[in-house]
Amino acid sequence: MRKISLDRINDLFAAIAAEFRLYLPVDTNGGARYEEWAEGKILSDELNTVRSAKDFFFPQTENLMDFKTEGKKIEIVDTRSETEDFVIFGVKACDVRSFDVLDRVFLAEPQDSFYKNRREHSLILSMACAKPHETCFCTTFGIDPSAPMGDIVCYKTEDALYMDAKTEKGAALLKKIESITVEDNGEAAEKQKKVIRERLEKLPLHNLTADRFGGDKTAEFFKAPEWKELSASCLGCGTCTFVCPTCQCYDIKDFNTGHGIKRFRCWDSCMYSEFTKMSAGQPRLTQLERFRQRFMHKLVYFPANNDGMFACVGCGRCLSKCPIQMNIVKVMKTLGKGEEKNV
Ligand code: SF4
Ligand code: SF4
Repeated sequence: MRKISLDRINDLFAAIAAEFRLYLPVDTNGGARYEEWAEGKILSDELNTVRSAKDFFFPQTENLMDFKTEGKKIEIVDTRSETEDFVIFGVKACDVRSFDVLDRVFLAEPQDSFYKNRREHSLILSMACAKPHETCFCTTFGIDPSAPMGDIVCYKTEDALYMDAKTEKGAALLKKIESITVEDNGEAAEKQKKVIRERLEKLPLHNLTADRFGGDKTAEFFKAPEWKELSASCLGCGTCTFVCPTCQCYDIKDFNTGHGIKRFRCWDSCMYSEFTKMSAGQPRLTQLERFRQRFMHKLVYFPANNDGMFACVGCGRCLSKCPIQMNIVKVMKTLGKGEEKNV
């Protein structure tokens, strides 16, 4: 494990940025968000970013390709440009796990080469969550916020940053910054892990389990009467899907620029009334059906197709951002409980 004192953290960022594009959470008027590091940018102290780190691999909008047309001739132009390695610093345990969920979707055959390319070029420096929030429930899905995954796991204390390499890529990066860091015996990180675990036990959602859900529960929950009340106030705004690190719906559209065609991929949301609308009609006519789809997908359909893996990582973003205070925790607590519900 390597250590650097916090008063030299800019030296660390400068050393990494000399080799790679470096992104880290910084404070903005709209909350913390990832930005490319440059001299003067200060690492945010917020627990997590408003938008998740999935944007690096699955951006909200991307130009997939262009088509040049000349008479009946069509030329396909590859517009991708991500050929350089980049570093994401400060990714929390929940968001690191979300990459596993996204991998199941985008790296399954046929692989999404755009996503794969970015995953292969990334180096993830995760950060243990020193002070998890009341909205956090990553432990429900077996995630340990005191020991996130990633190429390098970081622990930030009052006065120092500790870095532990977990992959070859991570070890190679630590080697590169050896001259500005010192060897550490790992005691401070172990102490922080213990404090985090004690804090976790006091969080309100610490005992929430997903045991009642899973891939074999379609029949049990699809027709549950609770969907009606749960979905009644949903505005269909899609906020929950846009802040969610694991939501992965998208739409692809071609635009005629007058000089050719540009093909874009943009995030979509199963909460939108026009989502998956086809020439034959709209498969989900009501907000109840759309709402149910989102939660059934995360808690039942996704695990059914992915060896039991849930498509929620307990990041708590939908708990804090939904304008009507509806969220997956309320769904989990209410569904199938009939009169017992009280959330
Ligand atoms: S459903 Fe909510 S808590 Fe779960 S990963 Fe998405 S935003 Fe986070
Ligand atoms: S954020 Fe809330 S209101 Fe908006 S679509 Fe999601 S559940 Fe419905």
